[in-house]
Amino acid sequence: MKVPMLDLTEQYQALKSDINQALEEVMSSARFILGDNVKRLEKSIAEYSHVKYGVGVGNGSDAIHISLVACGVEPGDEVICPAFTFFATAGAVARIGAVPVFVDIEEKTYNLDPSKIEAAITPKTKAIIPVHLYGQMADMDKIAEIANKHNLAIVEDAAQAIGSEYKGKKAGELGTTATYSFFPTKNLGAYGDGGMIVTNNAEIAETMSVIRVHGSKPKYFHHILGYNSRLDELQAAILNVKFPYLNDWSKQRIDRAETYTKLIKDQLGDLVVTPFVEEHNYHIFHQYTIRVPKRDELQAFLKDQGVATMIYYPKSLHLQPVFAELGYKEGDLPVTEKATEEVLSLPIFPELKLEQQEYVVSKIKEFYSTN
Ligand SMILES: *Cc1c(COP(=O)(O)O)cnc(C)c1O
Repeated sequence: MKVPMLDLTEQYQALKSDINQALEEVMSSARFILGDNVKRLEKSIAEYSHVKYGVGVGNGSDAIHISLVACGVEPGDEVICPAFTFFATAGAVARIGAVPVFVDIEEKTYNLDPSKIEAAITPKTKAIIPVHLYGQMADMDKIAEIANKHNLAIVEDAAQAIGSEYKGKKAGELGTTATYSFFPTKNLGAYGDGGMIVTNNAEIAETMSVIRVHGSKPKYFHHILGYNSRLDELQAAILNVKFPYLNDWSKQRIDRAETYTKLIKDQLGDLVVTPFVEEHNYHIFHQYTIRVPKRDELQAFLKDQGVATMIYYPKSLHLQPVFAELGYKEGDLPVTEKATEEVLSLPIFPELKLEQQEYVVSKIKEFYSTN
């Protein structure tokens, strides 16, 4: 049996006629940049996030970058973020000439540890970027309390967390802005790059929508420095077709996650650590990530057995060569560093079959019976 990490072909076959028609309409209209589809998606995603404004941008990385700029982050400022995340979180900070200040994560949720944030705040700190990793939101009440006390912006990196909830609240409700990615593998994926920022702040929404068109307002008059980063109209047309299915897809992911957890607990007991879901959280399982002993050997074994897995993330950002000049060393973020050695993400997507899940867990069991 072959179990891929993700298979998007079945989803396209199911939606093919609607998607093809939506693309056809854009091409016939010849409105390719910031047309009705982008506007419609901005409205849908803002409403979905329980906030007022949505700003469609080129990708999830630019969404973070544009948010930080609109929140007033400047060269030399400091921005607090986790090191256990995709590069873009910290890359967006460094691109401004600001300094990412890495704070350790919670062992169980893999999200920013609020109890470690205040020690990292200096007079230069301007913002915090909580990442809602794997589809579970960070502890936003505590983070918002710290941000309010120190007058910091919060840019929620919700690239992996569209649809997730914290105490009934969505990403963007408690932060200054929240950013989504429509990279094809994300829970709401385009057929290329795409991203969106949501916010309740009218002024910041306006600034962000100007930054994405070269800082041009009115057209050809530039008061601020922007660049070209817009959500593509064709991608927005595809996303408008897919968006109504998002909640069902999330439910199917949750169902797959519960199945894995049950199979693993039944067959492997405590040898494999299954994902921890905070009681007040709605975790939409962008990834199903376990912690295991002999992780790399297990991954190689599973690969031989036809089971794809991924390591998100094998190297912590504070130890990346590109950030060497920030002066971090091994041991600075022990919880993060341990996670990079133990995590393994299993295949999860709405179309994943029960037989495939049973096969994955049986192969994990087989590995530990001889290792
Ligand atoms: C995917 C991702 C991004 C970047 O999104 P792109 O659309 O690929 O630029 C940022 N942060 C996290 C946590 C991500 O998973």
